[in-house]
Amino acid sequence: MNKMKNAMTIDVEDYFQVSAFENKFNSSDWDDIAPRVEANTNRLLDLFAEKDAKATFFTLGWVAQRFPDLIKRIAREGHEVASHGTMHKRATDQSRSEFKADVGDAKRLLEDIVGEPVVGYRAPSFSFTKDNQWVYEVLSEEGYKYSSSIYPVVHDHYGIPDAPRFRYETESGVDEIPLSTLTVLGKNIPISGGGYFRLYPYMFSRYAIQLFKAKDQEPYIFYLHPWEVDAKQPRVEGVSAKTRFRHYINLKRVESRLSQLLTDFEWSSMADIYGYEG
Ligand SMILES: [Zn+2]
Repeated sequence: MNKMKNAMTIDVEDYFQVSAFENKFNSSDWDDIAPRVEANTNRLLDLFAEKDAKATFFTLGWVAQRFPDLIKRIAREGHEVASHGTMHKRATDQSRSEFKADVGDAKRLLEDIVGEPVVGYRAPSFSFTKDNQWVYEVLSEEGYKYSSSIYPVVHDHYGIPDAPRFRYETESGVDEIPLSTLTVLGKNIPISGGGYFRLYPYMFSRYAIQLFKAKDQEPYIFYLHPWEVDAKQPRVEGVSAKTRFRHYINLKRVESRLSQLLTDFEWSSMADIYGYEG
């Protein structure tokens, strides 16, 4: 494992597929909405190319099916193509057989497009809990080698607060690589990106990462969605003030912050840092 490097991870999905809007958009209607994920992911790829950074793209099968050239570009430019399942359903909302089909279909589809094994998986909305640990058996059955689906924090929608903070092997043999936290006064503080990266000033994020690197000496794992660099995305009406705040806060600042983040730290894919090969 390369402990100096940090993992840049992107969950490739469109703005209307996020769990916070699941009651607003039926998945059967997704095809009727003007997609923005391809353009947004291409912007990220341009930025990564400019900064010579590599990343892991946890991609929805739904997106891959519609934009195979985008997936090919991700692979061609030296990034890792990984799986975010097919239809962005939380593991907690699926039976074992539904979950198996969702993660298996996504893997086969992505592998058909890139012509290489896909070994990584991230669950929608970090929806692995203490009650559904069978998910790792299914990931193993489907040929995955690692998952990055646990946020060891207290949060209203996800997280296992007392989960290990760093890579561990589950009983199935599949590794879990949790999202990064800082331990402050015995509590895990989320510092892994997404909404927190938009909420806090960049200097705070940078300081938190520096502190993490100094204290824990582990790869730091950052995550972001393509829609987070898209300040012009259509605003979804009729959602709660909290959801609106979480989804839209500081979108216009993300691209410049990300650019700075790519300059300030060294980035690579999960597969490269942790030594997974297809
Ligand atoms: Zn997602």
